[in-house]
Amino acid sequence: MTDSDNTVALYDRLTGLANRTLLEERIAHEIDLAKRHTTSLALIHIDPFPFSEINSALGFAVGDALLVQFAERLKSVVRKVDTPARLTGDEFALLLPEAEHEGVLNVCHKLSRWFEEPFDIGGESLFLGLNMGISIFPMHCASASDLMRGAMVAANEAKKRKETTFIFQGSMARQAGENLKLFGELRRAIRKGTLNLNYQPQVNIESGKLVGLEVLSRWQEMHISPGRFIPVAEATGLIRDLTRWMLEKSLAQAAEWKAAGHIFPLSMNVSVRDLLSPNLISDIERWVDAYELEGYPLVIEVTESSVMEHARLAIKALGRLRQRGFGISIDDFGTGYSSLAYLKDLPASELKIDQSFVTGLAGQPGNQKLVKAVVALAHEFGMKVVAEGVERVEELELLHQFGCDIAQGYYICEPLAGDELLGWHQTTVSD
Ligand code: C2E
Ligand code: CA
Ligand code: CA
Repeated sequence: MTDSDNTVALYDRLTGLANRTLLEERIAHEIDLAKRHTTSLALIHIDPFPFSEINSALGFAVGDALLVQFAERLKSVVRKVDTPARLTGDEFALLLPEAEHEGVLNVCHKLSRWFEEPFDIGGESLFLGLNMGISIFPMHCASASDLMRGAMVAANEAKKRKETTFIFQGSMARQAGENLKLFGELRRAIRKGTLNLNYQPQVNIESGKLVGLEVLSRWQEMHISPGRFIPVAEATGLIRDLTRWMLEKSLAQAAEWKAAGHIFPLSMNVSVRDLLSPNLISDIERWVDAYELEGYPLVIEVTESSVMEHARLAIKALGRLRQRGFGISIDDFGTGYSSLAYLKDLPASELKIDQSFVTGLAGQPGNQKLVKAVVALAHEFGMKVVAEGVERVEELELLHQFGCDIAQGYYICEPLAGDELLGWHQTTVSD
């Protein structure tokens, strides 16, 4: 093998950083040294975000230019003895020989400060956030491959917790194994179409009339809640298939109801990956055409925290949906730390107050003030307010008193299967 073959085989072509092979060799070497000198070493797995979204929104040329600048910045902050590496498209790692707990945390802190500055790509400022996972030899892992896996699992945990840095814990290896199993089963369930949908009524508080249905995915066959499988779908990219399945199935159901003379507006949850995908609108419009649902009222629900994670890109995507006539609902409002500056730019038609502020409202004066303030704010911006998690009549009465527009919750109706809904509608709402 010539020298140049060697260089290509050990270094990433685009960024010039060490590749996975070279990193693994270096880790193995450093582990040998650490064993001999009873020292420790650390690996930081670095996931910059929202890289894939930038790629799909702005194109691969911009993505590549950003990767190169990212690598340059990484090189400029580390010591000579450290090895920065590119593992895959948007995953990086940093090997720190002779590093201990505190030293590694300091490096992470330094990195996150350095990456607060925007990147300049062709005159446009792009911001990247970091999720970093740390694993340390010999505390957490005994081999090069364990160290790499541990750091990656820790970085995923950081992402899930919306924290910048997370240190590997033994229990995470088990959790990662369970998620992998769930991923395989969920993929099969989506392909075979064995998930189900439920629809939860939303009523106008003043009139008591049905004004919408929230579409909620169910995995009845496995008795696994969406609170468990949706995060796995989001973390693995399966959410795109799940969302497509959910959209088509709920639009098919809407067509059946329409044929029976009912127009029930649908609110559909999408995750931020779907929102930033260029195909979302065309997918929905294809099924709207196929099921002859032109003009059918549809609302896209997206959580406040996911909008804020990618504020500028997400706001643009929401604007495009709004232009096409979709309603936009900001879900779990109050838990996602939006700044008021963003609120004024949000092309939303409604705010959905998180159930943690609604359930038990009667005994919580602080939450009552909060709900009143959100109602005033939303109305000021021309948005409606939906309260979710309404479980008692006292809550509904207070919401009415505070001027909240729409209510959803077990007190009104739990999520129902499609074929149960007409029965509920006939007995409850129309009289
Ligand atoms: P979410 O969007 O906030 O949905 C409302 C959740 O509150 C649902 O839980 C619903 O069953 C539950 N709920 C309704 N009324 C009450 C009540 O009065 N009290 C209480 N305590 N809870 C109530 P579910 O169905 O378990 O869904 C959990 C989350 O999973 C959803 O939260 C949503 O974020 C996600 N999800 C569900 N289906 C989908 C989907 O198809 N796509 C995506 N992206 N996310 C989904
Ligand atoms: Ca929702
Ligand atoms: Ca919610």
